[in-house]
Amino acid sequence: MSMNVQEWMSGEWDGQKYYSPAEWMKGEWNIFFFYELMKLGENACLKFCMDNGLLAKWYECPVCGERMKLVDSDGTKVGKVWSCRKRGVNAHQIKRAVRKGSWFQDSHLSLGVILCLTYMWVNRMTKESIMNDLDLASQTVTDWMNFCREVCEDECLAFDGRIGGVGKIVEIDESKFGKRKYNRGRRVEGKWVFGGLLRYSNECFFEVVDERSADVLLEVIKRRILPGTTIMSDCWSSYSCLSDEGFKHLTVNHSVTFVDPDTEAHTNAIEGTWSALKRSLHGTNHVAGEFDAYMAEYIWRRQNNYRITEKVQRFFGAISRAFPPPNKD
Ligand SMILES: [Zn+2]
Repeated sequence: MSMNVQEWMSGEWDGQKYYSPAEWMKGEWNIFFFYELMKLGENACLKFCMDNGLLAKWYECPVCGERMKLVDSDGTKVGKVWSCRKRGVNAHQIKRAVRKGSWFQDSHLSLGVILCLTYMWVNRMTKESIMNDLDLASQTVTDWMNFCREVCEDECLAFDGRIGGVGKIVEIDESKFGKRKYNRGRRVEGKWVFGGLLRYSNECFFEVVDERSADVLLEVIKRRILPGTTIMSDCWSSYSCLSDEGFKHLTVNHSVTFVDPDTEAHTNAIEGTWSALKRSLHGTNHVAGEFDAYMAEYIWRRQNNYRITEKVQRFFGAISRAFPPPNKD
């Protein structure tokens, strides 16, 4: 396979004409876009996935180290496979699935259907709509909706920056890491998570910790919250030692506020707080006290409240970070 700019701009790829992406992709990435893409077939979808970081553009042969060729898969399977075939001294014939290690691995659905389904989830279509429009089984749609939420979870945990600053309030909360039934990504079950939320904003961080101790909490605060921030929490009480040495140390750089239950009842009404966030998760399958995929989905959607095209592009970006397609074994 060769991929060059001229072919891509003219809509030709692998000797066939598919569409004029230069024009086409300027438009909205809405349901028509993904429906058209699905109709264009597996190869067009393959190219789209490569261009958007969902599938690898090249794959290194594990035997000779050269780039493998993209060839039609033989047999009953549709689509392409990576292949390397050498004769002579170092003779070998190697094949690798293009979906290996990617968002699409282990699925029997076509790329077009998975792309449509992903778009539909980003666009908040219901499970029933997705089942009806794509003619999929209930469990299949449930699985993929959960995979999408797990991408949000990975994205929440991947942010490693600092939040807060002078005059800002960061609320600290602790929760248990929810069970991950699907386990397509990292596994951190049973651990604790410290979360920080910048009040009145969508900025937040989540930090999975090995133990829930004052020392660990202090370390996380120092690393993730900017000096000058007012830190609020109602979870300090379980860290009695914070009132001694550690607490003094913390107040050198941060202003720390204990929130008593009465004050907390008042702050319940304020948007951009943990309590408001948790309240908004009622009616989902969110488990109280857990950092889970439902909470992550809610946060991702708040942080990515853009037009649909940009929202979908950002979600593809999140997928390619959660499932970076490998270029070699
Ligand atoms: Zn080879």
